[in-house]
Amino acid sequence: MLPLDVAKVRADLPVLAIPVRGHLPAYLDCACTTLTPEPVIQAVAAHLRSIPGCHGRANHRFGREATIAYAAARETVRTFVGAARAEDVIFVRNATEAIHLVAAGLPLKAGDAVLTTGIEHNSNLLPWLGLARSRGVRCLVHRVDIARGFDLDAFRRDLVDGVRLVAVTHVSNLCGIELPISEIVALAHRKGAKVLVDGAQAALCHDPAVADQGIDFYAMSFHKVMGPTGIGALVAGRGALDLLEPTVLGGDTVVDVRPDGFDMAAAPARFEAGVGNYGGAAGAKAAAEYVTSLGREAIRRHAVGLNRLATEALAPLRRFRLVGPLDPEARGSILNFRIDGLDSRRLAGLLDEREGVMVRYGKHCVHLWYHDEGCPDTLRASFGPWNTADEVERFTRAVADVAIMLE
Ligand code: PLP
Repeated sequence: MLPLDVAKVRADLPVLAIPVRGHLPAYLDCACTTLTPEPVIQAVAAHLRSIPGCHGRANHRFGREATIAYAAARETVRTFVGAARAEDVIFVRNATEAIHLVAAGLPLKAGDAVLTTGIEHNSNLLPWLGLARSRGVRCLVHRVDIARGFDLDAFRRDLVDGVRLVAVTHVSNLCGIELPISEIVALAHRKGAKVLVDGAQAALCHDPAVADQGIDFYAMSFHKVMGPTGIGALVAGRGALDLLEPTVLGGDTVVDVRPDGFDMAAAPARFEAGVGNYGGAAGAKAAAEYVTSLGREAIRRHAVGLNRLATEALAPLRRFRLVGPLDPEARGSILNFRIDGLDSRRLAGLLDEREGVMVRYGKHCVHLWYHDEGCPDTLRASFGPWNTADEVERFTRAVADVAIMLE
């Protein structure tokens, strides 16, 4: 496998070459949102400039071209995540919306259960807590010991009768650990439950192989894979969309409407009400192609290498507390930590002000885990394909300096 061409990636991200207050930006917040490279920006702009039509409903040139471009984007996404058919790719705004499409559309009733984990992003927990409130669906939570890794036996015990859906993250945005998706799918299917995988954090470095792994629903956002914001996908396994009742009806979701009823269109149209985000879809296509050309495994290896450098530099600091396993290989691109006694928000602000180093602080939308552990807010650095060893050095030196200054 060729190493990642970081110089090329940086050349495609001119924002990284603009100094602010004497510092080049060191953007270590890949897990929140990735940077968008020039080829993706150009694809969005080219689409908006030259194909101003609406897909699927006009037999004029702009309309036909828009239809062709949308279908091409859908096909590229299908390949990117290994789905069986392009019709199983539904364009949505983001992973959150994709998960909600499943939560609202599955015929879950009072007493049915959804099994999720204690390390989910709020976007893959609140929809189930919402169903508990509105329909009396039971939301069961499998607790994960992140330092030790995912325990399939314990998970099997939590997969009790009545679980209709298992909703788990592929890669944790809390600590970067990867969940054993094929094993989870096998266990869930044996119990007759469907599986939703939240791929938001994983899609940049992992091919989920939706069809091969038997995943029923896969949710993703393109802003996490170097694409634009405002476009994501719900990707379904074979036959899974038949289980969903569309909840937003409107233009393009029907083939006929009468005073006394209507006939729904086939998927994907029945789930894509209204005019779509065509520029976003063009950007999603370009992003999937860009990431594929870099190589997802090469991106992962690069991130782990930088994570190792950062971990080795920070772990010896007094009162350094890591979230997750010590080995960076198990944490992918994420280094989540705190310096005991120091305010993470203040630390994050100082890193940016003094060094132009951007990391995230807080509970990272995984409130449940922070509550369970009684853990204060943490700092999360995450490493993308544009980051360099130099930036990691600036980051770790700045953390050490600020930690001493604040003592
Ligand atoms: N799931 C995970 C694991 C995430 O990391 C995120 C975003 O941080 C989301 C879901 C939500 O993604 P979006 O805000 O793009 O819907």
